[in-house]
Amino acid sequence: MFRQGEVVEISTSTQVFRGVFIKEEKDFLVVKLSNGYNIGIAKRNIKGEKSLGMVRREENTMKKLKEHIRGKALPLISILHTGGTIASKVDYSTGAVIARFTPEDIIGLFPELRSMASIRSRLISNMLSENMRFSHYNLLGRAVEEEVRRGVRGVIITHGTDTLHYSAAALSFMLENIPVPVVLVGSQRSSDRPSSDSAVNLISAVIFIINARAGGVFVCMHESMNDSSCLVVEGVNARKMHTSRRDAFRPINKGLVARIDYENKRVEWLKDLEKSRGEFNIKLFKENIKVGLLKAHPNLLISELECFKHFDGLIIEGTGLGHIGISETDKLTKENKRIGELLAGLARRIPVVMTSQTIYGRINMNVYSTGRDLLRMGVLGNYTDMTSETAFIKLAWLLSNYKKEEVRELFERNLRGEISDRTEKEYFLV
Ligand code: ASP
Repeated sequence: MFRQGEVVEISTSTQVFRGVFIKEEKDFLVVKLSNGYNIGIAKRNIKGEKSLGMVRREENTMKKLKEHIRGKALPLISILHTGGTIASKVDYSTGAVIARFTPEDIIGLFPELRSMASIRSRLISNMLSENMRFSHYNLLGRAVEEEVRRGVRGVIITHGTDTLHYSAAALSFMLENIPVPVVLVGSQRSSDRPSSDSAVNLISAVIFIINARAGGVFVCMHESMNDSSCLVVEGVNARKMHTSRRDAFRPINKGLVARIDYENKRVEWLKDLEKSRGEFNIKLFKENIKVGLLKAHPNLLISELECFKHFDGLIIEGTGLGHIGISETDKLTKENKRIGELLAGLARRIPVVMTSQTIYGRINMNVYSTGRDLLRMGVLGNYTDMTSETAFIKLAWLLSNYKKEEVRELFERNLRGEISDRTEKEYFLV
């Protein structure tokens, strides 16, 4: 059998594959092709195989990679690694995906990177993103700040996809007037799998950074089920919309920033990026800030709301235009009235904000009596169209940096493109 790192040529009855041998599994061989993809070739289909010698060692190591690009006039891009599927391998003994790759492994997996940019690589964490806390946003924000001050052309953050949009929103608020693009990428299939989307997402982020003429925080992920293009979405408007599809990230209530034509390595701009005018500045999260997120639903219990009594802020992900059951409409709805009373008290003490579980559309609490009652209580968020995730992050960030009265005013003000001026019909299901 081949050794890892051996250049091999494997023929089936229909195709000849040439690439670097990665490993042997029970029923297939994994080979890295020159375009950066790993492919699995079923053993039963193999008609011929030969070795073309070992890959030169330097092609495999990050150290040599750095030497290779040093001195060339390639743009300097920093990659900050936080873990997630993009940094994971399948553990074949259990079948589970585990966080395992080191930053060097990840960069080494994508040989194309070396011809496109001079890469600096830093490990921030190696975790599944559902475990993230506000402290991780601060770690990440500070690391981005350091890289920007060092003069990089852009920063890529590799990240688990589950909460990638929360981190993207957090960085959008934290990094005021960011002068370079910060692009979050993840993958829905671990980097060692033939169907992995890591290479296309990562390389598309590099293409975007090289061509961008302004800063901001963005998400770059697959456009469709195939590997030919990626979409770039503003960090404050992105949302993971599918549990497993590689094209899960879509903009909500907003248009796209750009499409990356991966095959031709080109950017199709769909929006003009505005250069930031102010001074670059970072505003961190207070790590002990307590913001809750409550989903309204039929038969809500008062005890569900009671948990938030000692919180600093609350997001209610309401139904429809922005509602939660607070009315006693018959003898079966007494609990609703008590919920309303408790909510009124809460809204007097802390910012309580309404978002919608419809995901798309704008909050309008003027239409129904429930909404009007909520407005009278001081519930915020009327006419906003942020996702609940962005609203949650925005409220926590505002509470970390501003006084309570300012928070109430700033929440409904568009700070980073998170609230759109108009509701465009073409923004639905982009
Ligand atoms: N649970 C993983 C995470 O968010 C999933 C992924 O990376 O796609 O870290």
